[in-house]
Amino acid sequence: MLSFPIRTISQGAVQVEGDLAADDPVWMEGDVRPLGAVRVTGRLSGAGAGRFYFSGGFHGTAAGECRRCLTPVESVVQNEAHLIFADADDENADEPDVYPLAEGGMALDLRPAIREQWLLDASGLPLCRPDCKGLCASCGADLNAGPCACSPAVTQG
Ligand SMILES: [Zn+2]
Ligand SMILES: [Zn+2]
Repeated sequence: MLSFPIRTISQGAVQVEGDLAADDPVWMEGDVRPLGAVRVTGRLSGAGAGRFYFSGGFHGTAAGECRRCLTPVESVVQNEAHLIFADADDENADEPDVYPLAEGGMALDLRPAIREQWLLDASGLPLCRPDCKGLCASCGADLNAGPCACSPAVTQG
């Protein structure tokens, strides 16, 4: 569970320990999703009238593909997250690091914010290996397996 009643948070800090599953409806078409789930841990607390603060982190394994040769690549993604949630009519609600609370909402849902933070870290397209040669732009051959027929001869030295 990554959704918490506002009333509960207002009464005191809430420990957060939950999973954002790979099949959660918060994910959108084209997102780099986790294998399994993104693990979220931390603490939610009130930060003044209509404002709440999450301090914690997340980790998971991103299932992506090598940006050069498109081989599936799994990379560990983890980071700290320090997020501020504020009423939509809060004067600072349009700051980049402030997530607006749903108007009249009874709950604070961490999922959209965690999704965003995860994508910031997971979308850096990985390489299957640092020296991946990629695919031939003409014939699509995997150049890691050797030169293709249309490769110009490589002149050494
Ligand atoms: Zn590659
Ligand atoms: Zn080729």
